[in-house]
Amino acid sequence: MGLRKAPDEIRTMARAGRVVAEMHEECSRAVRPGVTTREIDRVAREVLTRRNAESNFLGYHGFPAVICTSPNSVVVHGIPDDTVLCAGDVISLDCGAIIDGWHADAAITVPVDEIDDESAQLIEVTRASLASAIEALRVGGTLADVGGAAERVAMDAGLAMVREYVGHGIGTAMHEAPEVPNYRTGRGRRHRIRSGLVVAIEPMVTIGSPETAVLDDGWTVVTVDGGRAAHFEHTIAVTDDGPEVLTLPG
Ligand code: MG
Ligand code: MG
Repeated sequence: MGLRKAPDEIRTMARAGRVVAEMHEECSRAVRPGVTTREIDRVAREVLTRRNAESNFLGYHGFPAVICTSPNSVVVHGIPDDTVLCAGDVISLDCGAIIDGWHADAAITVPVDEIDDESAQLIEVTRASLASAIEALRVGGTLADVGGAAERVAMDAGLAMVREYVGHGIGTAMHEAPEVPNYRTGRGRRHRIRSGLVVAIEPMVTIGSPETAVLDDGWTVVTVDGGRAAHFEHTIAVTDDGPEVLTLPG
């Protein structure tokens, strides 16, 4: 189930992960009414340059930016452009970095100024869904347990989990085997999680229907009903001592 990583490889991935965490910190600080998503991408580029990290997003199947910016009803893969953020919006920031050939990938959803209670709950539930999935990522467990844990938090809150996009293994490529669904599926039951597995877990939760569509640009994934979505992601290594989140600040 995916290539197992050695401890020194995981340490290098953690260095890439710290760059991603710094991108999140600086991009979050740049989020305010009146800023464009392109300006947030510029902030992320500056972090990559300062840390001598490469971008795994830029040029990926032709993607034109180093982060994905996904406001409101955009679920994932939004392209930074001239979109101006307004007070009351929510925006998902998906960031990635490469250090010495090793990848990290993580996403957060943040409020733009004051947001309504429903949007605040959406953000908190999605964050909790990821935390619960990480807790289930343990030696001897299965990826079905991980997906089931993520899904349960969303369902218990009366929210819906997107099913068309899933998490993934990660290492010397951004997307490796295995797939990591955010819901319980028979596919994930067969393999026991082993130490050295590194995955990106990334629940995407919606207020309304979880059904999605891709816009004509070939990237932007939106909810079909126009309801808001949130997205949280971490890159996590499985160790004998439990899950180790690699995309945290240093
Ligand atoms: Mg990501
Ligand atoms: Mg990912």
